[in-house]
Amino acid sequence: GAYQALLFLDLDNFKTLNDTLGHDVGDRMLMEVADRLRQSVHASDTISRLGGDEFVILLGHLSESVEDAAAQAAVIGDQLISRLAEPYVLGSHIHRSSASLGITLFCGNTVSVDEILKRADMAMYQAKSAGRNTLRFFDPTLQAGLNARLRMEQDLYRDLAQREFSLHYQPQVDAQGHCLGVEALVRWNHPQRGWISPLDFIPIAEDSGLIQPLGAWIMETACQQLVAWQAHPLTAGLSVSVNVSPRQFMRPSFVSDMIHLLHTIPLDPNKLVIEITESIFLDNLDAVVQKMAALQKYGLRFSLDDFGTGYSSLSYLKRLPLERVKIDAAFVHDILTDPTDAAISQAIIVLGRSLGLTLVAEGVETTGQWQLLQEQGCHLGQGYLFAKPMPAPALQAWLMAQAPASLTAGSAPV
Ligand code: C2E
Ligand code: CA
Ligand code: CA
Repeated sequence: GAYQALLFLDLDNFKTLNDTLGHDVGDRMLMEVADRLRQSVHASDTISRLGGDEFVILLGHLSESVEDAAAQAAVIGDQLISRLAEPYVLGSHIHRSSASLGITLFCGNTVSVDEILKRADMAMYQAKSAGRNTLRFFDPTLQAGLNARLRMEQDLYRDLAQREFSLHYQPQVDAQGHCLGVEALVRWNHPQRGWISPLDFIPIAEDSGLIQPLGAWIMETACQQLVAWQAHPLTAGLSVSVNVSPRQFMRPSFVSDMIHLLHTIPLDPNKLVIEITESIFLDNLDAVVQKMAALQKYGLRFSLDDFGTGYSSLSYLKRLPLERVKIDAAFVHDILTDPTDAAISQAIIVLGRSLGLTLVAEGVETTGQWQLLQEQGCHLGQGYLFAKPMPAPALQAWLMAQAPASLTAGSAPV
């Protein structure tokens, strides 16, 4: 009936110590930390080093009341934190350090070991983001979020098998009002919850690895659509942009999978644009450039998505084999009212043009915005001003309504 507590402890900025003073000093530091931990808990408690600078401490036999058990764990946690904040003598160095601590309580065996560890780990991250050198308890509202996520992950898995996904396509329009391409955007029609935004499920698909099968399905479906469109004059000129998430792109087989797809689906590779975000480049810029160059040889084009929001490194624009850059909707949104946003979009456009890139503005909602963007030199616009993302048949009807009579003479492709 007694509660126990699991404490997840992570040293703050340990990596810096390792990097500056070397691993010998780092090792000595870890041993000193272990000693201090040992001195701070009962002999019957368990201390372990999980790896790196992470320690896990199991406190047994706390109170049978959850409030009292929490208070007991907090007292010990606080002691650990102040003990670990005392200076360390490492050879000739005096080192100062601190630790972040996550605590979760449990009783009996209703919760799995993995789950308990995960909760303590999550709480530790809360402590880190609260500024380090502190402790946090696992919070049940965090858990509610965790459960919802887990459920969504299971549903994703189920619906992926049952093909509950579809692609919508949003036009990209030039200064003359011609639609030159579309962006494929995935939609999930959940049997109980209705339409779920990709903003909600793509991150979960990425974390769980489900982005691999989902992304493969998206790519293949978009390519099939592209081939179908190539056969009809109304749609033959369209390029299709497909979003590829970092985890999908970094997979070792991404290039060979794409090449295989190009061999099996008879599409014009020039019409396929891969949209990537800057977060891809944080990993290993050289490897990314190599992958892009390999696919570029096959005729594929690359677009840098959401430009202006992340690192927005100007050197990426130069180093990467990009064909286009998308100005993030956040700048477009306030372009008429906020001079800074207007200046940023102007700068991106001038720079992009000088590097020979095609500029695409996202989230264009008003004629005023589009006018200014065109004056600034932007090539293509995408947004509700032109059309919302829509299923392929609706897109064809939309194109038909825009097109001159000569093109609409035949029947639209199915
Ligand atoms: P994104 O790539 O930046 O896509 C543009 C988003 O802006 C889309 O949201 C689109 O519906 C929305 N949008 C377009 N025009 C307007 C406008 O005028 N005003 C406003 N307020 N919004 C507009 P959506 O479809 O919900 O997609 C959200 C994000 O989810 C995408 O952002 C992309 O990051 C991700 N995503 C969508 N489809 C896929 C996919 O197939 N694969 C991957 N990996 N990610 C995807
Ligand atoms: Ca995109
Ligand atoms: Ca975007």
